[in-house]
Amino acid sequence: MTGKIWFVGAGPGDPELITVKGRRLLEAAGAILFAGSLVDQAATLYAPAGCEIRDSKDMTLEEMTAWLLDAAARHATVVRLQTGDPGLYGALIEMTRPLTAAGIEWAVVPGVSSALASAAAAGETLTLPEVTQTVILTRVAGRTPMPPGEELEALAAHRTTLCIFLSITLLHEVQRALLAAGWAEDAPILVVQKASWPGEEKIVRGTIADIKKKCQAEKIAAQAMIIASPTLGAADWPELARSKLYDPSFSHRFRRASE
Ligand code: SAH
Repeated sequence: MTGKIWFVGAGPGDPELITVKGRRLLEAAGAILFAGSLVDQAATLYAPAGCEIRDSKDMTLEEMTAWLLDAAARHATVVRLQTGDPGLYGALIEMTRPLTAAGIEWAVVPGVSSALASAAAAGETLTLPEVTQTVILTRVAGRTPMPPGEELEALAAHRTTLCIFLSITLLHEVQRALLAAGWAEDAPILVVQKASWPGEEKIVRGTIADIKKKCQAEKIAAQAMIIASPTLGAADWPELARSKLYDPSFSHRFRRASE
């Protein structure tokens, strides 16, 4: 038997935020390799009785590849369950290349990224008419360097929404880069830890100046999304440009203007 390996986005943590397709694959899986440091074990709750389930937290890439190949030799459906969406900071291609080389079929099922779940948790929007219409998903350099031109300071110069992954221990660098790009010290910043994890989510709102202190006070040092955006707090603004789509004076394909 040669099975197929599915790279499934588990979503941000809440087991209800996996896609219907992802859940169906888990229910059919003979083996599941899950990213234990970030995928809530509850995500494996859809696995059938007798399914082989392994946490990849302590495995190297080579060990994971060997495990997946071995599982595919014995099961029709094998799932590699990854946090959020597999195409974001998920080492996807490093994992699929050896499978292709071994002649194993694989496919990807997208997932709800933690960037989206974090905005949702806080009731924030990532885009707003006439404020920003662009979202940048990025990180700051840790052990993985940033390619030239992608330094946070350069990206922040666009004044768009920035969803900053993998950087909560580098908040000082985020602060420095935003200020150097001309953002105000009192510009709002949102940090969400374990967005959507039942009972474990933490939401911290602050400014560039005080966000680090606030996160330290909340003991947030991992599994957190940083969102810097000119849209933050818009729910409480006195004035807001309307979205054209719902404006009575604006016609579009599905609706004629009424005014
Ligand atoms: N593929 C994932 C990202 C993996 S990188 C996705 O699409 O979300 C890991 C980083 O994602 C963490 O450092 C953190 O910045 C973020 N992250 C993952 N899950 C999160 C969650 N539930 N809440 C907040 N941030 C999360």
